[in-house]
Amino acid sequence: MRSSATAPCGSAWESPTPPEAIARDRVAAGLLGAGRAMLDLVLPPHCVVCGAAVLRQGTVCADCFGRIAFIHAPLCRCCGVPFGSGPDRLCSQCEAHPPLFAAARAPIRYDAEGRRLVLPLKHADRTDLAAVLAPHMARAGAALLARADVLVPVPLHRWRLFHRRYNQAALLAAALARRSGRPAVLDALHRPRATAPLGELSPTARRAALADAFAVAPRRVAGLAGRRVLLVDDVMTSGATAEGCAAVLLAAGATAVDVLTAARVPPPRAEA
Ligand SMILES: [Zn+2]
Ligand SMILES: [Zn+2]
Repeated sequence: MRSSATAPCGSAWESPTPPEAIARDRVAAGLLGAGRAMLDLVLPPHCVVCGAAVLRQGTVCADCFGRIAFIHAPLCRCCGVPFGSGPDRLCSQCEAHPPLFAAARAPIRYDAEGRRLVLPLKHADRTDLAAVLAPHMARAGAALLARADVLVPVPLHRWRLFHRRYNQAALLAAALARRSGRPAVLDALHRPRATAPLGELSPTARRAALADAFAVAPRRVAGLAGRRVLLVDDVMTSGATAEGCAAVLLAAGATAVDVLTAARVPPPRAEA
């Protein structure tokens, strides 16, 4: 599998892997395994949420796992909120106001337990959580990953990036790119205008606050034209951020935009 987290747009991932690369990958995997065993001796594996002892590094203990609210079908076929009693149905919000993105999926409900798993990735330098969340995202978004030409993270404004030192959405996009073999263009979008924290704003106020907040990097426009983009972020709240990004990606020539986040806040009305 290619490590294509920073690969530019292109179809290079379709080329077969040469034998020498396979041998090199096996040697690297062996060294990685030995390194991991050493690490386990020095630093025993612990639950990434509560710190309890576990068998493998980078895993969640049984207690914490049992408390995570995973999102299961049936879902709205568009926005992915748990909804209805059968497949292929649209929630009332998507029926009344079809979003600019084609489909959105997330593995985990953003409740108190979901926050314990996702929030430290954003605010506590827990960059290791990207590798913990990516497999769950890959499962929930398998269909979206399969049809994606390119993965693009939701950007941070440069000042927020300066203070945080990393973009959590880019870490997730890179981890998903490594798992799926799809290319990720981590600098395809940028945020020319800083926005105040969206906090408790209503969906309408969020949309207004995010108008013109996103832009496609001019040097990436040609690479996005005619491509299906999978937008990656940590949390979807109202969908306003995803819609803001989808608007500029579609304007740049992307054929469609899907959205994959680690967690989401389901609109209560859609679940009713
Ligand atoms: Zn735990
Ligand atoms: Zn919906």
